[in-house]
Amino acid sequence: MAQAIIRESETEALKFPSDQDASGRSLGKEEIDLVSQAILSGTLTSTKGNFTRTLEKRFAERIGAKFAYACSSGTAAVHLAVAAIDPEPGDEIITTSITDMGALAPIVFQGAIPVFADVDPRTCNVTAETIADRISDRTKAILVTHLFGNPCDMRPIMELSRSRGIPVIEDCAQAFLGQSGDTMVGRLGAVGCFSLQQGKHITTGEGGIVVTDDAQIARRMYLFINKAWGYGDPNPDHYFLALNYRMSELQGAVALAQLDKLDKGVRQRTNLAMRLTDALQGLAGISTPYVYPGNIHTYWKYCLRVDGRRLEGGSPALGKVLKTYDVASMPRYIQKPAFQCKIFTDQRTFGNSRWPFTLARPEAVDYSPKRFPGTFSALEQVLVLPWNERYTQRHVDHLASSIREAVKSIDGGRS
Ligand SMILES: *Cc1c(COP(=O)(O)O)cnc(C)c1O
Repeated sequence: MAQAIIRESETEALKFPSDQDASGRSLGKEEIDLVSQAILSGTLTSTKGNFTRTLEKRFAERIGAKFAYACSSGTAAVHLAVAAIDPEPGDEIITTSITDMGALAPIVFQGAIPVFADVDPRTCNVTAETIADRISDRTKAILVTHLFGNPCDMRPIMELSRSRGIPVIEDCAQAFLGQSGDTMVGRLGAVGCFSLQQGKHITTGEGGIVVTDDAQIARRMYLFINKAWGYGDPNPDHYFLALNYRMSELQGAVALAQLDKLDKGVRQRTNLAMRLTDALQGLAGISTPYVYPGNIHTYWKYCLRVDGRRLEGGSPALGKVLKTYDVASMPRYIQKPAFQCKIFTDQRTFGNSRWPFTLARPEAVDYSPKRFPGTFSALEQVLVLPWNERYTQRHVDHLASSIREAVKSIDGGRS
């Protein structure tokens, strides 16, 4: 009883920083200074200004890539990568069943077919084996997502890519500064895509950026941002179908200031995550994040796995009890696999044409649950905790004790 009273009064004092407002964002004087300079310069387009260009240079340096191009969103970033690979209509791009729609819609807009690979339930990420199972003679690219900031097991994926001559696109929207071995994510595949949306590691509200070492891919991505207009060429033209995906100087200025804060934020997120992982060791029915050997997870979210055989009601039940402790969580993350969204089940695309799905091999659009055991098992188990570099040790300790108590309450007194 006494314990319960102490816990309640602590909860009252303890507000969790949120990435949806100033409490959980690192936006401040540095951003204001740069954005003021951008405004006073009178040049808000990145085709003429210097902020976005400087951001691109600094981001490329930080990731260790030859080229970086800023764009209007993470979705645009993925679109640039897909457009640079330049699939023929009906070509296939193998991707993951657990990701953001922004990583999938661009494939369809480029006339290609997203072919969903199953995931490793320990990480919710695709693996070399699940990708290999989906390769066909129409496979044009592999698009992996490093979900929650936890990098895929990239060594075997890159071996597969090299042996089959299929390029890899990395969606790093959730995984800034994550590493696979010694290499930063975004540098393993042909292209790395990042998002600067409100809730990501660093933000400009909306925004994206791509990196590559390949000069030809870089050129195509640059053109795709700019309506394929050959700025600076002797006889410029609109060379192919493309959009205006430019980042403005306002966003470029904010992103430049945010980039300086990225390392510290990632360090904080990682240290806090280690503290929670330590505090949850030995808790029956709960698994802390699994990281592939040699990789570095940068904790966009902190994802637990709840064993429903051990804990009555599994992840949703735990989420419900946690709510009574004022602990927010997302049981089952996106709820259903991406391939169960209407865009794929109804093939609602351009008018009533169903294009490009009309070009698909039947197997490429076979979404039978039996082909996705890892995906369903993963979504069944995951409980996603919001994570933030502004959490303090007290926040983490509150999370740990709440999770321990919640587990106890649904474990039928066994633990
Ligand atoms: C956020 C996100 C995107 C899309 O980025 P936007 O900036 O929201 O368009 C794509 N992929 C993943 C994995 C994401 O988390």
